[in-house]
Amino acid sequence: MANIQVLDPIITNKIAAGEVVERPSSIVKELVENSIDANASYIEVFIEESGMKSIKVIDDGDGILKEDASLLFERHATSKISSDYDLFSIRTMGFRGEALASISSVSRTIVKSFNESSAPFLIEMYGGEEVVREPAAERKGTEVIVLDLFFNTPARYKYVSSLTTEAGKIIDVMQKFSFNHPNISFKLTFDGKQRFRTKGNGNLKEIIADIYGINTARIALPVEAKSPDYSLTGYIIRPEMTRSNRNYINISINNRMIRDFRLTNSVIRAYHTLLAKDKYPIVILNVDMDPKIVDVNVHPAKTEVRISKIKELEALIEESIKKVLHGETLIPDSIEHT
Ligand code: ADP
Ligand code: MG
Repeated sequence: MANIQVLDPIITNKIAAGEVVERPSSIVKELVENSIDANASYIEVFIEESGMKSIKVIDDGDGILKEDASLLFERHATSKISSDYDLFSIRTMGFRGEALASISSVSRTIVKSFNESSAPFLIEMYGGEEVVREPAAERKGTEVIVLDLFFNTPARYKYVSSLTTEAGKIIDVMQKFSFNHPNISFKLTFDGKQRFRTKGNGNLKEIIADIYGINTARIALPVEAKSPDYSLTGYIIRPEMTRSNRNYINISINNRMIRDFRLTNSVIRAYHTLLAKDKYPIVILNVDMDPKIVDVNVHPAKTEVRISKIKELEALIEESIKKVLHGETLIPDSIEHT
């Protein structure tokens, strides 16, 4: 008799869910990423009770083939990469094939989809097991509904802090998507009330107005800079308008929202003396780079990255922001004359 056994997928998916779907906002992030990867031009997100009651994401993307329905909720099943070469040059938001497997193992998940080369279908999963599969209406694209989140993981259910904190995190994720994908129209609704919507006309300045308000957009300065490996674009907001936390420093890499304190710090260094104590700037920046020099496969949530020439990028960000701020002659003196 042996002691070691391979775990059942229902258990392994729940284990993975601990990392992939930490909280409602991580589910929103994964579902919207799937819609983006499916070439959607319109993505609508409906949230009830900060996601603990329901999360619904509707897109007008390519849809899912009915023939793929059985693999949809399998872990490590993906249409996005097929070789290790692909893994080291990722251009899609997803690639791990884990999100739907994880989400469906800790909730009731319903997927309705129609890909025009196949037939429309609906699948309902409950705690990792398929409970319904039937034909659905012909509407190009995909709709995913997540209910009863964490019903079978009581510790996680309790961990989800306050509904207000969760709502804030969902808003943050949706704002970052909007900045990173100006050609997609996003709409976010909480408990029946529209929170914001973007037009999807490609105009980043309009998106800043839709999200942070017209007064912020009015004092947005364009940034465009290049170094051998990186190309930086976006807007920085003049230092008259600041915030009391770093959440408004939006930096993405190849249109993927990331978290990197070194890059955030290079933005703060660039504003330097222009900021009052404990005040932080508002910036919306994207760095384009060859996907081969950035590793996004560091953590299941894909927000942590490893960049091979980080010093070059830190310098590019700091110098180009300084240049824009100087060009505006906003810098009082301390930097110029010391
Ligand atoms: P990944 O995104 O890493 O491939 P997921 O578990 O998030 O893994 O999704 C599994 C697969 O389901 C995707 O590879 C894709 O083929 C399909 N899929 C999921 N959501 C959508 C969607 N909104 N539109 C089209 N296809 C989707
Ligand atoms: Mg995905």
